[in-house]
Amino acid sequence: MNYGRIYNFSAGPAIMPEPVLEEIRDEMMNYRGSGMCVMEMSHRSKVYQQIIDEAEADLRTLMNIPDNYKVLFIQGGATLQFAMIPMNLMKNGKAVYIETGAWSKKAIAEAKKYGEVIVAASSKDKNYSYIPDCSDLDIPEDTDYVYICENETIHGVTWNELPNTKGHVLVSDQSSMFLSRPCDVSRYGLIYGGVQKNIGPAGLAIVIIREDLISEDIDPKTPIYLRYDTHANNGSMYNTPNCWAIYVCGKVFKYLLSNGGLTAMEKKNQQKAQIMYDFLDSSKMFHGTVEKKDRSLMNIPFITGDKDKDAAVVAATKAAGFDNLKGHKSVGGLRASVYNAMPIEGVQALVDFLKDYEAKNA
Ligand SMILES: *Cc1c(COP(=O)(O)O)cnc(C)c1O
Repeated sequence: MNYGRIYNFSAGPAIMPEPVLEEIRDEMMNYRGSGMCVMEMSHRSKVYQQIIDEAEADLRTLMNIPDNYKVLFIQGGATLQFAMIPMNLMKNGKAVYIETGAWSKKAIAEAKKYGEVIVAASSKDKNYSYIPDCSDLDIPEDTDYVYICENETIHGVTWNELPNTKGHVLVSDQSSMFLSRPCDVSRYGLIYGGVQKNIGPAGLAIVIIREDLISEDIDPKTPIYLRYDTHANNGSMYNTPNCWAIYVCGKVFKYLLSNGGLTAMEKKNQQKAQIMYDFLDSSKMFHGTVEKKDRSLMNIPFITGDKDKDAAVVAATKAAGFDNLKGHKSVGGLRASVYNAMPIEGVQALVDFLKDYEAKNA
């Protein structure tokens, strides 16, 4: 059916799979004979318990999450995790952070309130356009964890090889790459992400945490909501969870499972990114801003090198039915976010448009 939808390249909240939106529409007035919408349901009801249980089980299947990890659904988006992580994990009051862009920078600023933060590597010198070599970092023995942002949504860099943590716990912000490629969960102590980039509605973070990192022995003044043990001991329902977002995420998990899982997603995402990067590498007008080896499959920033030209291109794309391509102000230019739900045809159509634009405006 044609709903008049356009190709939406937003960095987040972002494009959703259409079959998922249609299913939600069909269940809106009466969820499977319950006589009500999921929005109207008690989170303590049997029917809702099944929704959250299935969502967790399906995510475990998708990511092959080992049994000694908990899956937590927590409100407050990814930003709240910038604080929750140091509040719960800084036992020795010391953590190593790698600074690769706007989001790791924010996480660093927040963590500094709770302990000593060692920025062991940074790519600030080249406006966060690459991932620094982290194969042999200086990591103090009593470091509580090593923190990375695995895909920098604004700067468009991605980690293709994890840092050598020298046996320390690895914590990763996967917000803008969640479920975009297979992930060996056992290599991490904690993985988290806001879901509004690649999974569902804003306002929910998913935290995947190794059980031994969930501690009751933390500052007793920690607000009850900000303790991982609160969420772990109460099945993510200490208080009313973000019921609606969890329901939608569950639908996306099922959709991914029935479409080949994360291996298939990675293949499709590589195809899409290749179309964009091949174009940028051959274009005389546009160029990418990131070192080739560290380019993101999800967020693709590109510029003409001239602010006015950039603005004209953004306006032209919008008029042609491609939306949200304006780059973030810290990079400028344009940015195409091509999350799981963006079809290959959307990327091809954008590249065709940009090629044509270049030919006409050379
Ligand atoms: C969007 C984003 C965040 C912040 O997410 P909120 O849910 O808005 O708090 C954090 N980290 C990364 C990598 C992001 O892309």
